[in-house]
Amino acid sequence: MVEATERDGLTWYRCTKCEMLFEDRNEAVQHERTCDAEEPEYLQ
Ligand SMILES: [Zn+2]
Repeated sequence: MVEATERDGLTWYRCTKCEMLFEDRNEAVQHERTCDAEEPEYLQ
């Protein structure tokens, strides 16, 4: 999923699967749909 996070006074959108940060929420959501990193099992 995508989580909003604040860093350096800006809001970033983070892919919780691979920790990648995006400035644009739509980009983060699109990335997350195709992200092939797997959620750690202990979070499921
Ligand atoms: Zn990702």
